[in-house]
Amino acid sequence: VIAGTGTVVRATKQRAAVAALLAREDEFHSAQEVHDLLKQSGERVGLTTVYRSLQILADTQAVDVLQTADGETLYRHCSSGHHHHLVCRQCGRTVEVDGPAVERWADDVAAKNQYVDVSHTVEIFGTCPQCASA
Ligand SMILES: [Zn+2]
Ligand SMILES: [Zn+2]
Ligand SMILES: [Zn+2]
Repeated sequence: VIAGTGTVVRATKQRAAVAALLAREDEFHSAQEVHDLLKQSGERVGLTTVYRSLQILADTQAVDVLQTADGETLYRHCSSGHHHHLVCRQCGRTVEVDGPAVERWADDVAAKNQYVDVSHTVEIFGTCPQCASA
């Protein structure tokens, strides 16, 4: 047994609990809210772990991130299927969008150049209606 494995397993389990909670929720939630909701459902995950888990999930794009006007960071489960994001440059409000034309173009370009196993990432940045009217 490698020393410290227990800690790693526990951290992975707690991250899974955070991810599972967000998967059940449709709304954006702050780390504090995620922590409270986990507590209500009987999961014992420390606030620091919740913060760290959310950071990792955001880094791997497993969650969508929203920055509120007062600087609070909110998180929401990101759909598992392939999709793109329309992101507000000012507040971070994120809308999940399909891009059929982008999918066709990507397949086309790959096929023409005989590339296989291709993938792509497309994020669209702009100013959301709320920020534009502010
Ligand atoms: Zn998403
Ligand atoms: Zn905005
Ligand atoms: Zn795509």
